[in-house]
Amino acid sequence: MFGDAELITELMAPPTGNLTVRRNDLLALLADKAGPEHAAFNKKLIGLEQSDTCVTLKFGDGTEEAASTVIGCDGIHSAVRRSIVGAENLSAAPQFSECGVYRAIVSTEKLEQAIGPEIARTSNVFLGPDGYVIMYPVDGQKSVNVGLWPRRRGPWTQREWVIPAQKEAMEKEFDVWGGTVHKIMELMDNPPFFATHHHSFQPDSFYKGRVCFIGDAAHSMPPHQGAGAGQAMEDAYVLAQVLGRIDPKCPSQEEIKAAFKGYETVRKPRSQRVLDTSVEAMGFWSDFYHKDLESQDVQDFVRRANERFQWIWHDDIAGQAERARRCMQKDLDCTAVKVNSVH
Ligand SMILES: Cc1cc2nc3c(=O)[nH]c(=O)nc-3n(C[C@H](O)[C@H](O)[C@H](O)COP(=O)(O)OP(=O)(O)OC[C@H]3O[C@@H](n4cnc5c(N)ncnc54)[C@H](O)[C@@H]3O)c2cc1C
Repeated sequence: MFGDAELITELMAPPTGNLTVRRNDLLALLADKAGPEHAAFNKKLIGLEQSDTCVTLKFGDGTEEAASTVIGCDGIHSAVRRSIVGAENLSAAPQFSECGVYRAIVSTEKLEQAIGPEIARTSNVFLGPDGYVIMYPVDGQKSVNVGLWPRRRGPWTQREWVIPAQKEAMEKEFDVWGGTVHKIMELMDNPPFFATHHHSFQPDSFYKGRVCFIGDAAHSMPPHQGAGAGQAMEDAYVLAQVLGRIDPKCPSQEEIKAAFKGYETVRKPRSQRVLDTSVEAMGFWSDFYHKDLESQDVQDFVRRANERFQWIWHDDIAGQAERARRCMQKDLDCTAVKVNSVH
């Protein structure tokens, strides 16, 4: 039997340690690097049409743009994915992950007064009945992001995924948890509940013709391993490396296909494995409390908790890009042989 907020293990992330960044800060950094002249805002893509030579993008404001290649990084509700796989296809839309989160940002100072600096100023996961609670400092340690994750078995029947003002429901659902979590809940104003969804059905391919999709559009996953944004970045890096080998002014259909194939061959299996283990992680974190554990079982849990992040954090990303480039080249070489043999 464990005491309230008793430490089971410390998960280390060498060499940097656990660094957290707020989404808006990260986006501002990326936008600055990319250059604002390369971005257009307030445009909602509503459809795509492809020909052999170009793609026409249609926007909600009635405007259209033509492009030689389109990369959809438009998130879990991806219009690009829908247009490629077909709106009626099972893989077009995400499914309920049978869990969700009450989320809030609380003041580090107040949290420190409530539960002490040791917990308030570090990243923590609390394991309890049918759920887990995660908290980590953000905003240069001024605030703490808190998420209370209950399991919700069965389908999600409401139209909206975000239900506002759920403090009462949260307190009821986490009533049997220990004193530390109760003190954290007291500091959460009136948090919304976010019903989590992910892509549980996948299409055969992440590309068709001159269009492909990456990031959450390709493999949205529950955030129980904090890995979705990282996978989106790996996609972007590998894809940039293969597309970088093509003349951007007039890429041929074969070159684009070979580049997309290289990206997909390397990225699809890895992102799928991260997705699958992220789904499974909800059970991993939330079943622990219910188990009748011997000390050997606790050690096994600690070992598995440590292992489950290492392969996600420490992959050779440059190696992924190199494999994608080789795959692309092989495809282009085959195409050249075929063309030669025809003539
Ligand atoms: C509660 C929660 C916690 C998370 N925690 C972590 C974490 O700790 N670490 C981590 O790595 N990941 C985490 N994730 C996952 C992470 O947020 C996503 O994996 C990541 O944001 C995916 O990036 P993306 O660019 O593919 O999609 P998004 O970030 O969803 O970006 C898609 C963009 O496309 C735009 N867009 C959408 N549709 C259209 C359209 N039709 N036309 C034009 N633009 C459009 C959107 O406005 C948005 O700007 C978390 C997710 C959740 C829900």
